[in-house]
Amino acid sequence: MGEIRIPFAKPSIDEDEIAAVVETLRSGWLTTASNAKALEQELAAYCGAKYVNVLNSCTAAMHLCLAAWDIGPGDEVITTPYTFSATANVIVHTGATPVFADIREWDANIDPEMVERAVTPRTKAIIPVHFAGEPCQMDAIMEIARRHNLKVLEDAAHAVGSLYRGRPIGTIGDATAFSFYANKNMTTGEGGALATDDEALSDRVRMLTLHGMTRDAWNRYDAGGSWRYDIQEFGFKDNLTDLAAALGRGQLRRLDAMNEARTRAAQRYFANLADEEHLVLPRFSEENRQAWHLFVVRVKDSSPVPRDDVIRQLAERGIQTSVHFIPLHYFTAYQRLGHWQKGDFPVAEKVFEGAISLPMYQDLSDTDVDDVCAALREILHPTG
Ligand SMILES: *Cc1c(COP(=O)(O)O)cnc(C)c1O
Repeated sequence: MGEIRIPFAKPSIDEDEIAAVVETLRSGWLTTASNAKALEQELAAYCGAKYVNVLNSCTAAMHLCLAAWDIGPGDEVITTPYTFSATANVIVHTGATPVFADIREWDANIDPEMVERAVTPRTKAIIPVHFAGEPCQMDAIMEIARRHNLKVLEDAAHAVGSLYRGRPIGTIGDATAFSFYANKNMTTGEGGALATDDEALSDRVRMLTLHGMTRDAWNRYDAGGSWRYDIQEFGFKDNLTDLAAALGRGQLRRLDAMNEARTRAAQRYFANLADEEHLVLPRFSEENRQAWHLFVVRVKDSSPVPRDDVIRQLAERGIQTSVHFIPLHYFTAYQRLGHWQKGDFPVAEKVFEGAISLPMYQDLSDTDVDDVCAALREILHPTG
């Protein structure tokens, strides 16, 4: 395998962000403090939510949200099998049972009709995942949730900056989780956030974030702060450091510009590949704004070169790709739960069979996109 010429993903960090992290290092205060608080306020303003809790991952945001809703043994939570394992792992961690609803082929997002069919008297919540940054059909999902009295937690790991019918992702479900992992649209190295309009939820998540300490205890190192604190419940340790938050504040300022750069790259892929007979290009709704976290093409069954070979040959040309996602019910740990077998989610399985995530990041140049597309064409049309 050759050297990587065009990576699959690459963070974009500017000099101001480096300076902000260095300044935080020099300040003598490294963990959660003023930068984390400022990032919470700035994110809330950005996505229009009343409250934001910054956390050390999107996984933590989802886990703490379910825990704060007292979801646990005997409960069911509906999500998609076509996601990163974190989405369903956190359901298992609460003691609840994950229930999968298949996706629609159109955009690889959870199918509201399948959600409706999966609802039982034990269902407590739905976790839709905005695949690649394209918003799920939230009106239909919220309608089902309201009718059955279910909570909705959006996994918006791909969708920071996306709009659903003009509304920012972060203001639609009961809570929304964002990821600031290294390859996401904005990064803090590792990090995440939970957005909600529900003050009680935000307060409980804050307590669960830091061992179950009373809120005042967060300020226990302030001048004049008391050494006394109470542990009110058995919490976790999921806070975001000020070092990470300093980076996140700069990233958020540049988020719209970074997402526009991704959109330009997506448009160039579309223009380049529109007539490629062996590929299905990603679909998106004109009424939404897509954050283009991923650009996922599908190699058709009729292609002379199967998906795995296309990936290998791209790698030989120095082009790194990935696959989003391996359906969760294929994994050993999920198999062991004994609920599913191959064939249970035919649409997710079909979409997975052909999927390739092409390089996509803020600094991907026009030449890079053209190189990827030229390589794809060459590979898909072998001569002789
Ligand atoms: C990246 C990702 C996560 C996990 O995010 P972390 O911040 O790494 O915990 C969750 N869901 C989806 C769909 C993701 O792509």
